[in-house]
Amino acid sequence: QTHLLSLSLQAKMSRPVQARRLEGIDKNIWVEFVKLAATYSTVNLGQGFPDFPPPDFLKEAFVRALSGENHMLHQYTRAFGHPPLVKILAQFFGKLLGRDLDPMTNVMVTVGAYQALFCCFQAFVDDGDEVIIIEPFFDCYEPMVKMAGGMPVFVPLRPKAPKDGKLMSSADWQLDPAELASKFSDRTKAIVLNSPNNPLGKVFSRGELEVIADLCVKYDVLCISDEVYEWLVYDGKEHIRIASLQGMWDRTVIIGSAGKTFSATGWKVGWTVGPNRLLQHLCTVHQNSVYHCATAAQEAVAQGFQRELKLYGKPESYFVQLPKELQQKRDWLVQSLDAVGMKPIIPEGTYFLVADISEFKSDVADVPDSDEPYDSRFAKWMVKNKGLAAIPLSAFYCGAHKNNYNHFIRFCFAKEEATLKAANDILQKWKREKTNP
Ligand code: PMP
Repeated sequence: QTHLLSLSLQAKMSRPVQARRLEGIDKNIWVEFVKLAATYSTVNLGQGFPDFPPPDFLKEAFVRALSGENHMLHQYTRAFGHPPLVKILAQFFGKLLGRDLDPMTNVMVTVGAYQALFCCFQAFVDDGDEVIIIEPFFDCYEPMVKMAGGMPVFVPLRPKAPKDGKLMSSADWQLDPAELASKFSDRTKAIVLNSPNNPLGKVFSRGELEVIADLCVKYDVLCISDEVYEWLVYDGKEHIRIASLQGMWDRTVIIGSAGKTFSATGWKVGWTVGPNRLLQHLCTVHQNSVYHCATAAQEAVAQGFQRELKLYGKPESYFVQLPKELQQKRDWLVQSLDAVGMKPIIPEGTYFLVADISEFKSDVADVPDSDEPYDSRFAKWMVKNKGLAAIPLSAFYCGAHKNNYNHFIRFCFAKEEATLKAANDILQKWKREKTNP
């Protein structure tokens, strides 16, 4: 028995188990805030997903895929993308980009845009390579670059005060071209561009994209272009694809998501579009990790795109209707926030808007020298005490810059009218309590 006991003691592992590449990247804002929202929120404008359904034509396509005659749709399909999906994506993006695309070599399907990003960093970034990331940024870029051995280099969008008391727009947040240029060097391997940008909703103008493109060409740098919100642009703004600018096709991977395109984030169908010389390396990562994505979901998304190609630019097109609906929702939330003095920054695109909480600071005391940025404590207090969930803007900054912009929170307005009304009620009541304590 003593022998058995000592054996079992010996069997307990004592060596460190965590690979070095995971050092410092174990915290994840979504794990924390999704749990808080689930526990306390009555109105969840935190994580970015619609609480309305995808369009009927898409749901019906999925049901047909699952219950139809073709039982092969329950089995593996082509590893780099279900043939009908890569075919229609090549046609669709070929039309948008004005070039002939080969479905087999210029398109790869992924498990959401998230896996597409992961493939890019793993495929292109070597130890010590620098990757430029524009702040504020979708938070996973930083740990993904680090996991690949790379060094993220951050450059901020800087806000300019709006004219004569007007509300700020996401267009007022701009890169300083000289500051951006100072981040490029022969160590730079890639820049990550996210337009329309999560969390600000900024849609980069042609001029802004040209500055980035010129630097990419000058320093021979890749562009990882996260365009998951490509259809969600408002006020007649145009989404410009950086891959269509001079010298950029050859060095750009475009990343898209059916989650955002068709309001079905849980399906996790994403894609990459680009030249074969880049995509072939994404295929290597994909075949050695995920290998294959859910067939029936790909089939349904393929049918969704077939419909959209036929209706391109027409009023019945979902890509025309969805931004109209979301613009209305944006305007409701802008009004609600403006009315109570939580100044919104009007987004030009995406599901999101960022609002200034300065006038609400009296509700949550500042703790000088706290490790946690003020906006994070504010957002936690708000969900616990008001039942309203949002995400602190500091979550979209690197560690060293989290306190530079710590009095903003991000709301998701891709929600049913009733959800936005409930948020408005909470804000109104809060405001009344503040004015008549
Ligand atoms: N990029 C950005 C900018 C996003 O906001 C998201 C989702 N929130 C993703 C990528 C990931 O998309 P998917 O759900 O398709 O993996």
